[in-house]
Amino acid sequence: MSSGPYQSWGRIDFGPQIGMRFDQRLSPLPEVETGKSILPYGNGRSYGDSCLNTGGVLIDCRHLDRFISFDPESGVLRCEAGVLLADILDMAVPRGWFLPVSPGTRLVTVGGAIANDVHGKNHHRAGTFGCHVRSFELLRSNGERLLCSPAENTEYFQATIGGLGLTGLVTWAEIQLRPVANAYIDQEVIRFHNLTEFFRLSEDSDEKFEYTVAWIDCLAKDVSLGRGLFMRGNHAPEIARTEPKAPRDGPSIPIAPPLSLVNQLSLRAFNALYYHKQRGDDDNRQVHYRPFFYPLDAIGNWNRIYGPKGFYQYQCVLPMEGGEAGMTEILRKIAAAGMGSFLAVLKIFGDKPSPGLMSFPRSGVTLALDFSNSGGKVLSLLDQLDGITSAHGGAVYPAKDARMSAELFRQAYPRLAEFSKYVDPAFSSSFWRRVEGPASQDSG
Ligand SMILES: Cc1cc2nc3c(=O)[nH]c(=O)nc-3n(C[C@H](O)[C@H](O)[C@H](O)COP(=O)(O)OP(=O)(O)OC[C@H]3O[C@@H](n4cnc5c(N)ncnc54)[C@H](O)[C@@H]3O)c2cc1C
Repeated sequence: MSSGPYQSWGRIDFGPQIGMRFDQRLSPLPEVETGKSILPYGNGRSYGDSCLNTGGVLIDCRHLDRFISFDPESGVLRCEAGVLLADILDMAVPRGWFLPVSPGTRLVTVGGAIANDVHGKNHHRAGTFGCHVRSFELLRSNGERLLCSPAENTEYFQATIGGLGLTGLVTWAEIQLRPVANAYIDQEVIRFHNLTEFFRLSEDSDEKFEYTVAWIDCLAKDVSLGRGLFMRGNHAPEIARTEPKAPRDGPSIPIAPPLSLVNQLSLRAFNALYYHKQRGDDDNRQVHYRPFFYPLDAIGNWNRIYGPKGFYQYQCVLPMEGGEAGMTEILRKIAAAGMGSFLAVLKIFGDKPSPGLMSFPRSGVTLALDFSNSGGKVLSLLDQLDGITSAHGGAVYPAKDARMSAELFRQAYPRLAEFSKYVDPAFSSSFWRRVEGPASQDSG
C-alpha cells in the first residue's frame, strides 16, 4: 500500500489517496479491506476526480508497461494497459507508424486513453481513440478475464470504452496504428478575428486537413470575441530539404509557487503576445510532431503554475445547431469575468460515432480551458457555463471535471442506465459517487 503520490492533473485537494501497485499480470485484483472500493489509476492526467477514489483504493497500473507484440506490416500493436502513448510513439514512428488518435499530451496510458475514450485534433476524420481499439482484456473483481472486442463480449467492450475505469481493469489492449512517412507535420497557422471566422475556417479545413484545432484569446471582447489562431496540418509526405530539428523538452516547474502565477494581468499580456506572435495572418512550415501535438509536454509539471490550490479545467461540447450562439454566450461570460487560461482550445468534433456508451465526443463544437482555483468565484462562473451547456443540449467532459452536478451528467449521458449494468460492483471513484452514487460524500 502506498499513499502517494496520487493526484489528478488539476492538483485540487480531494483528500489523501491510497494506491496499490498492480503488476502481478496473471493474478486476480488485490484484496482490499472490506467495504473499500477500487479504481484503476493510469498516469493521473485527468484533471479532476474521475481518476481518484478518496476513501477507497487506487490500483496503480503504471507497472503494466510491456509491449506484447507489434506487426510492422499491418501496424497492429498489442501492449499492456500501463504503456504510455509516448512509448508507443518512440517505438512506432521510426518504423513508419503513428497513433490513430492522440490527446494533447503523450503522457497518458493506454488504459487511461480507453477509459476516457480520448479525442484528438483529428476527431472530424478519425473519431475517438476507441474507434481504433481492436480488443482488450478486462479483469473483473470476481477474477474473470473477459476478452472484449466488437465481436466478443460486445457490451463490455462498449461500456469500457469511455467507461471511466468502472467496468474492470484493462490489462492489455490491441490498437490499430496509422501509417506515416516520417515524424513531421506540414502545419499552417492562420489568424482569425472572431468566432464566425473560426467556424468558416473549420468548415473549409476539415475536408483537406487531418488535424485542426484553434487557440482562442478568452479575454477578447466585443468584435474580437473568439479571436485566435487556427492550426491545421497533415502528416508530411516527405521531409523538407532543411529538415526541422526534433525538439528537446524544455525546463520543468520544480515546485508550486505559493500563489497562482495566472492572473488577469499575466493572462492579458500572454494572450495579446500570442495572438500577435506571427507577423502575417498565415504561417506555413514543417514541424516535428512533438511541438504540433504536445506543446505543453515541453514544460514539465506546468500544472504547478496555478499554485497550491490548483485549477479547474472546463471542457464542454455543444451541438452544431445553435453552437455558435452558445459558444458566444460562454465566451462572453468568461471574458466578462476576466478569468480563463493561456491555452483555451476550440475544435469542431465530427460525426463519426464512438463505440463507447459513455463517450464524451459527439458532433458539435468543443471548448477547453483552465481556471485558477479561486474558490467560490470560479465555481459560480463554472455553474453558469454549465447552465449554457445544458440549455444547448451539450455535455461536460468527465476527464476534465471536478464539480459538475449529477443532474447535468445524467442529462448529457443518456445511456447511463444501460452503462450502469456493466459497472463492476467493487469499483467506484470520487467522480462516480458525486454524479451517480446515493450520497455525495466520499465513503469509499
Ligand atoms: C495537457 C493535457 C492535455 C490533454 N488533452 C486531451 C485531449 O486533447 N483530448 C482528450 O480526450 N483528453 C485530453 N487530456 C485528458 C487525458 O487524455 C485523459 O484524462 C486520459 O484519460 C488520462 O490518462 P491517464 O493514463 O493519465 O489516466 P488517469 O487520468 O490516471 O485515469 C483516467 C481514467 O482511466 C481509468 N484507467 C486508467 N487505467 C486503467 C486501466 N488499466 N483499466 C481501466 N481503467 C483505467 C481510471 O480509472 C480513470 O477513470 C489531456 C490531459 C492533459 C494533462
